[in-house]
Amino acid sequence: ADDVILAIGQENAFPWIERDLGIEFDKWDVPVIDPRTFQSTRPGVYFGGDAAFGPKNIIWAVEHGHQAAISIHRHCERQPVSERLPPGMNLHSRKMGMHEWSYANDYSPVERRLMPHVSLKERFKKLNIEVELGFTAEQVEQEVQRCLNCDVQTVFIAKLCIECDACLDICPVDCLTITANGPEAELRARLKAPARNLAQPLYVSAALPQTGRVMVKDEDLCVHCGLCAERCPTAAWDMQKSQLHWPHAEDEARALEARKT
Ligand code: SF4
Ligand code: SF4
Repeated sequence: ADDVILAIGQENAFPWIERDLGIEFDKWDVPVIDPRTFQSTRPGVYFGGDAAFGPKNIIWAVEHGHQAAISIHRHCERQPVSERLPPGMNLHSRKMGMHEWSYANDYSPVERRLMPHVSLKERFKKLNIEVELGFTAEQVEQEVQRCLNCDVQTVFIAKLCIECDACLDICPVDCLTITANGPEAELRARLKAPARNLAQPLYVSAALPQTGRVMVKDEDLCVHCGLCAERCPTAAWDMQKSQLHWPHAEDEARALEARKT
């Protein structure tokens, strides 16, 4: 980029941008930005962070910067900025032994612990003290065990399943059912635990080799304990860590270079 303008503040204010440059502003007097490319209505001029879409947190601002960097790189290479690499996803098994996983898979039913605070009396006496006291090392240890390991997915290979029902029996939350396939509304109602949250799609496997029925999983209930995968005699279930790769400018640069050679 030729110029990067760093701004810190609480409100968008762009009186210093001439209105005849081809940069359109909306009714709030903030620039009109493409939410994917972060390009303004003037090609080659980009906005990110609060300047683009109003107040958000710093994590969003960093991501806006990454996306704008991709656009800037493509713009400099005279490539269409709206075309970019798709995100990638990778899955790796977490299995380390018959009953061993490389993640803490024990489900902890412990309730979320409240953060201890300095008393109101103290806070009024001293207005500049840290209010949250934090947890002790032991409390932190317990708190992290509450993680549901949402990044570790249950992966099912239908052709390996011998329909022994062992995974159904051991699942502590009854989120697995082997049944005949059917229309979604009716299928949801006849699962071991009816799946009432319509916003959560059901996992429905391919037809199982023995009977043609399907394995259905309600992800809403799963606590990612891995017991189904430990119990399965044929390794039809596995616990696999998913990693999402969101391309950045260096990946775009590499891809563009590779296309040139
Ligand atoms: S990971 Fe645990 S909760 Fe999820 S389907 Fe398997 S046994 Fe059930
Ligand atoms: S334990 Fe394995 S083989 Fe048995 S029903 Fe479950 S997935 Fe199929």
